[in-house]
Amino acid sequence: MKTVNFLANLAKASLSITETVRKVVNGQLSILVIFCMFVSCSQSSAPVPIYAWTGANPENADELFTQLKSHGVTGVCCGDNAEVARIAHAHGLEYHVWTGSMCDGSRGDSTLYAVNRNGQSAYSKPAFVDHYKFLCPQKEEVFQYLNERYTAIADIPDVDFIHLDFIRFPDVILARGLWDKYGLVMDEEYAPADYCYCNQCVAAFKTASGIDIQSLEDPSQCPEWKQFRYDQITTLVNRLAANIHAKGKKISAAVFPGPTLAKKLVRQEWNKWDLDAVFPMNYNDFYLEGAGWLESICREEAAAVNGRIPVYSGLFICPDWKHKAEKEDPEDHGLLPSEMEEAVLGSLRGGASGICLFTPGRMSEEHWQALDKAVQSIK
Ligand SMILES: [Zn+2]
Repeated sequence: MKTVNFLANLAKASLSITETVRKVVNGQLSILVIFCMFVSCSQSSAPVPIYAWTGANPENADELFTQLKSHGVTGVCCGDNAEVARIAHAHGLEYHVWTGSMCDGSRGDSTLYAVNRNGQSAYSKPAFVDHYKFLCPQKEEVFQYLNERYTAIADIPDVDFIHLDFIRFPDVILARGLWDKYGLVMDEEYAPADYCYCNQCVAAFKTASGIDIQSLEDPSQCPEWKQFRYDQITTLVNRLAANIHAKGKKISAAVFPGPTLAKKLVRQEWNKWDLDAVFPMNYNDFYLEGAGWLESICREEAAAVNGRIPVYSGLFICPDWKHKAEKEDPEDHGLLPSEMEEAVLGSLRGGASGICLFTPGRMSEEHWQALDKAVQSIK
């Protein structure tokens, strides 16, 4: 745990220094800034980075961020509101702008969307739920669209990271804990959610591999086709990352656990992405696993990035935990207060650098107490 301690403090200290340098550049260095830096350093006792995926607006941000800071939260993944980002920085929080990346129904041009194995567009006939309108990663216009958005977000002064969510294909296999919700048995790749078979993807794969994917009886048995689609997402992320880095900002992503599961379910080979931090959504209830699973999945995740970037273990919190057993929808499940210690400490033992909460709004008072206790035990 000493290593975790050291790295956490080092990261915090370097953030403070970066902030100070920025203020010097802006000609705003003053006794007050020096004083704030000392205060910041003296308060950098949080033994482990804690992040939170959360909504916020300029009206509630100050109160929300004050509460999060009191529990040692070090960063938030929020919307692209410049004022919210400014308030987060005023509280000393690292700011990641959450984006829905590939899952975006806002494009008027239906030809930009992915096409499934049955020839249906994700725009007009999405899999599972109406909002699953996924873009095709092969199309240059899709890259240009995302690139313009992210480089514009990177221009917001108080943004530290662009945070990619839904940076993937739709779930070709749903997590086991979701099968009942959708009335499906998904022990193999599911044609209505198997993408992308648009003309451009089929032609690009033929050029790359010599294989006409549409001539195969069962495309799910073609390893080259699997790899081609991992590579499509990897290429897209790395092109975006290069341009975000050129703007002096960083990039992070919310990904599926693994990457073994992430590759199998949503075709994310995220260990090959040029990220600065990765946030695997280690939502144990979705995989019908207990809190003990966090340690083993984090062990795989930390090994996959081999110390190159920090892994922040995403924890799925049960909102109405006293009635968890009565809730049918897996979205209402998650960690109980009594599981928080094992989830947090297990994640760290497995090699995670910290944790991320989904979401602070789902945390009961008992959850916060359990988190505080777990974090204090690390000191
Ligand atoms: Zn396509």
